[in-house]
Amino acid sequence: MSGQDPSAGTMVGVLRDHALRWPDRPAMTFLARGETPADGLTYAELDNAARRVAARLMGGGLAGQSVLLACPPGLDFIRLFMGCLYAGVYAVPVPAVWRRQGGDRIRAIAASARPSAILSNERPEDEAVLAMLRPARGGGFIPAAEALAASPAAIEEPEPDSPAFIQYTSGSTSTPKGVVVTHRNIMANQRMISAAFAHDADTVVVSWLPLHHDMGLIGSILQPLFLCGRCVLFSPVDFLQRPARWLRAISHHGATTSGAPNFAYEMCARHVTDAQLAGVDLSRWKLAFCGSEPVRPRTMERFAARFAHAGFRPEALYPCYGLAEATLFVAGPQACSGVEARSFERAGFADLTTNASAHQPAVSCGHAWDPSSIAVIDRVTRQPLPEGRIGEICVAGPHVSPGLWAPGAAGNLQPYGERLVRIDGTSYLRTGDAGVVEDNRLFVVGRLKDMIILRGANIYAEDVERTVMEQPAAADFAAAAVVAVEGAEKEEMVVLCELERGVARAGLPAGIAAGLRSRIAEAHGFQPAAIHLVASGALPRTTSGKVQRGAARAALLDHRLSLVPWT
Ligand code: ATP
Ligand code: MG
Repeated sequence: MSGQDPSAGTMVGVLRDHALRWPDRPAMTFLARGETPADGLTYAELDNAARRVAARLMGGGLAGQSVLLACPPGLDFIRLFMGCLYAGVYAVPVPAVWRRQGGDRIRAIAASARPSAILSNERPEDEAVLAMLRPARGGGFIPAAEALAASPAAIEEPEPDSPAFIQYTSGSTSTPKGVVVTHRNIMANQRMISAAFAHDADTVVVSWLPLHHDMGLIGSILQPLFLCGRCVLFSPVDFLQRPARWLRAISHHGATTSGAPNFAYEMCARHVTDAQLAGVDLSRWKLAFCGSEPVRPRTMERFAARFAHAGFRPEALYPCYGLAEATLFVAGPQACSGVEARSFERAGFADLTTNASAHQPAVSCGHAWDPSSIAVIDRVTRQPLPEGRIGEICVAGPHVSPGLWAPGAAGNLQPYGERLVRIDGTSYLRTGDAGVVEDNRLFVVGRLKDMIILRGANIYAEDVERTVMEQPAAADFAAAAVVAVEGAEKEEMVVLCELERGVARAGLPAGIAAGLRSRIAEAHGFQPAAIHLVASGALPRTTSGKVQRGAARAALLDHRLSLVPWT
């Protein structure tokens, strides 16, 4: 079987086609506690469920409207999501964490998306969110069980350029933004991912990534569905509680592809014990993608070394780069080529007397895949830069979404406008990320918003964080965040080191801070104004696990950040 029909124009057509041809093929399995199969779907069952959900939504007059999709991790999320695609209803995936930390995120998204309904298998605990719904005939809270009990609808394939769903960005730098992802965007990105990852219908994906996040939904759910492959899912909480479950599930289910942000590889390298690895065989794991936050060379090395005896192949490590505005995937190397790190001269050091900080390593995220392209521009002149020069990464191609969801605007769409730049007659989207291309390889350097300007020199927060996380005392830290604060006369750099779980609640010796200070000065040419210890778990993070530097800075300045004294 080919696994993909190049003429199929949308995921709706793809799934219907797979269900007709391979009805009994297993599509999805969900593991309770990351271990025990608790729910499953064949291709025919998924298609049938999606047609039932679509019938309920279309019957309720919701086509063309946005609907919050708020399910705990599990296959109901997929049943409902595919039902929305079938019905032409724009799902807005959010985590179902109403009262906990994620509650603010849901309310912010509900206020921006103006949904007509909430689809879930649990009644929302937050009346405020229910009260925010736009009045609609068939809207309100729609329980999954009710939608799944409807009679399956007949489905027409949607227009490729119509919206498929609304994907909120992680909210690392500000309030999450609702990206309108079209059916064509999804298909284009699925083809790029499958070419880059060298995927086929025998691909088995294991994933615990959040389903409301692009790397989970586009990369780990829709990609195997696109291929007619198989996906084994479990909850992020079950991973965080015991990282070994990830490796055990990969081994047990024969996963060929599985990936996560850098922090997850680091957690495995630190916390998985030999006893937990008993019987684990990682030799079939061909592609271990790593993206969504900076990829640290040291983490990749440690992971490869730690799990070599379980059969893990270092060339499986696959650093890649992407963002929600480009559906997900933007750049990645050839599969099985492993990790390549290089050092680059950071731009903007003209008035720096010591150039100690000039060379910082970054990991290759490969290149753009047909038919897309990447350019690096000068932020001020907006002109493309030659290879080897750091500038703003820009991306063009059929995976770049048309704009942000803007209820009430023409077509409910706010095009990217100022974020677009024309290069050689092609329109590129500015990503807000700094990077450099060398030998047709993209190296991501950091976020422009998180860049600190010290005496005219550009310091990328990510560079200093890497220095912190790659020094000997790093085992005591779970993460670092580097932020700028206003000093007496100028910007100053403050380093926040978050304590690893279970480490030294009473604090750490001040000697560690002194050692860190001199390392940072040596590597970057500047002393931080302060180095603070932050209580375990206290750095603000997105629901996809990224540290929010801006929020950390605000919490620090408002004295809301839980600090632990050096001893
Ligand atoms: P927001 O846009 O709301 O601030 P976000 O940018 O984190 O949040 P996403 O679209 O989910 O939301 O994440 C994309 C961003 O993640 C990229 O723009 C980049 O900053 C970062 N990123 C992704 N892959 C990599 C990588 N390989 N190396 C470094 N950073 C990466
Ligand atoms: Mg972003």
